[in-house]
Amino acid sequence: MTVQPIRLFGDPVLRSQADPVTDFDKELRTLVKNLTDTMLDEGGAGLAAPQLGVGLRVFAFDVDDVVGHIVNPVLSFPDEDEQDGPEGCLSIPGVYVDTKRRQNVVAEGFNEHGDPVRLIGTGLMARCVQHETDHLDGVLFLDRLDAAGRKDAMKQIRSSEWYDAGKPPVVKASPHGRGLFGLGR
Ligand SMILES: [Zn+2]
Repeated sequence: MTVQPIRLFGDPVLRSQADPVTDFDKELRTLVKNLTDTMLDEGGAGLAAPQLGVGLRVFAFDVDDVVGHIVNPVLSFPDEDEQDGPEGCLSIPGVYVDTKRRQNVVAEGFNEHGDPVRLIGTGLMARCVQHETDHLDGVLFLDRLDAAGRKDAMKQIRSSEWYDAGKPPVVKASPHGRGLFGLGR
């Protein structure tokens, strides 16, 4: 079993810049397996290494039955098109707020063996790629909301049973249930 506990909102690792992967070794492949297995177990659309407490630039995705991963992703946007719709995060369980994202994205990076890969995403896949790449920079979808959206999200967070403002952040397994972008699945 390689399902791992997911770090929750409040854990400083979620606010840290992740380091580029330099060694495409067995440890990296174990990390990719852990990310993929945990994501699939939680029913999420994506999971980034910092969410498992690992400060490396890797994420896994599962969108429209396309399961994969990308290492050291660099994003570019082929056009100005935007999308707006509900977004969530396995590290902020149960909280969904409409979030503006670019509609189309190209992610260039590597697979777990160090081979170059290029992922062209539109719609939900583009949303996932932007969300997960943000995690590698310590950015959460809350940061992409306007003031009203952030207020709504914080209200949802404060009323979540997993959130305890009085306690220092600890590692907890997130409850099972609705995953990232659960509304779209
Ligand atoms: Zn997330």
